[in-house]
Amino acid sequence: MIKRNKNYTNLAKGYLFPEIAKRRKAFQAQHPEAKIISLGIGNTTEPLAPHIVEEMKNFVEALGTKEGYEGYQDDSAGMPKLRERISKAIYNGEIKPSEIFVSDGAKCDLGRLQAMFGADVNVAVQDPSYPVYVDGTVMAGAGGKEPVTENGFKDITYMPCLPENGFFPDLSVVKKDSLIYICSPNNPTGAVATKENLFELVNFAKANGCVVLFDAAYSAFIRDENLPKSIYEIEGAKDCAIEMQSFSKPAGFTGVRLGWCVVPENLKFDDGSKIADAWARITNTAFNGASNIAQAGGFAALDETGLKEMQETISYYLENAALIRSALESENFKVMGVEVYSGGNAPYVWAKFPGKKSWDVFDQILSQCNVVVTPGAGFGPSGESFIRFSSFGHRENIQEACERLKLFKM
Ligand SMILES: *Cc1c(COP(=O)(O)O)cnc(C)c1O
Repeated sequence: MIKRNKNYTNLAKGYLFPEIAKRRKAFQAQHPEAKIISLGIGNTTEPLAPHIVEEMKNFVEALGTKEGYEGYQDDSAGMPKLRERISKAIYNGEIKPSEIFVSDGAKCDLGRLQAMFGADVNVAVQDPSYPVYVDGTVMAGAGGKEPVTENGFKDITYMPCLPENGFFPDLSVVKKDSLIYICSPNNPTGAVATKENLFELVNFAKANGCVVLFDAAYSAFIRDENLPKSIYEIEGAKDCAIEMQSFSKPAGFTGVRLGWCVVPENLKFDDGSKIADAWARITNTAFNGASNIAQAGGFAALDETGLKEMQETISYYLENAALIRSALESENFKVMGVEVYSGGNAPYVWAKFPGKKSWDVFDQILSQCNVVVTPGAGFGPSGESFIRFSSFGHRENIQEACERLKLFKM
């Protein structure tokens, strides 16, 4: 019989969100009358901005004409005009269009990226973190031979990110020549790394032969002007960092699918070859470029009107986050000793329920409030006792969920 890829055998059973969906379904079956509201999975809910819709429509109509039809793109790294616009609008021209690789989303890039580094690379992740960093590592064979335990995978270095360290990791636990995954603004904690944090990170990476994989999928949510939106705001980052970006959360492209990653030309492997060349080779082989319709939408999202409309939607989600935060600061949570973390620069509110298990809090909130949240333990061992509240939702649902949460007891 055919053999299973051993690297896949160790993937932890049941990805976090299917387990949440299962519990939600079981609860709904027992309580058909319950009106469940989800503050769980980070999925956008508000419509695409009119300008983006208009430009995508125009592009689709052109595809239906002889003159406007386009097939495969010349370069699977994306439409030249989109790469140029990203270079200008996001990086102020400091990153060259040739260093920008447009894709069908940041998660897709994350899943493909580790193929470049093989099974022997050391990997360090923030703990808690977005599950793909760990799963991508395990699929590439770099998670070790043993199955997951409650402390995670043996060959992955977990860097605890807790209130005690301001949610930014102690890098001294990272081995030499590691890939270091850093997400800022962070999913799930909502914390944003400061310039000082990233300066320390870049210097550590350069001194220790590491490559930083910087996930900036939420950078457009940063409202505090002192906080860095890109790792390339830090001098030296072009020598040690790859940045992942996405239109999903800021422009509502979760279903449209579009993102990019920056692989600077300075970045090299130990044999002197360019990482960007390897990346181009892989994407040309395993990916034929992002949908041209999605790219037309992304191009519109980054012009003056698009950027303005995008910020309006982001404000809407940030206001939701502020409502959730204030509900979690109400008296009933105070008596439970709940601590709330939300700096106003991310769509997530992270809360600690001291002495409680995340999944128990999840079950209680579901049964008492009929609200779905995400248990912090699902993001890594250090997420235990925490709950992530997502602000992606229609305002009326968020308000209703907040009213219910104010009556929660445990
Ligand atoms: C949602 C999310 C992404 C996913 O991006 P896509 O572009 O939709 O694939 C990437 N990173 C983080 C941290 C996310 O939360």
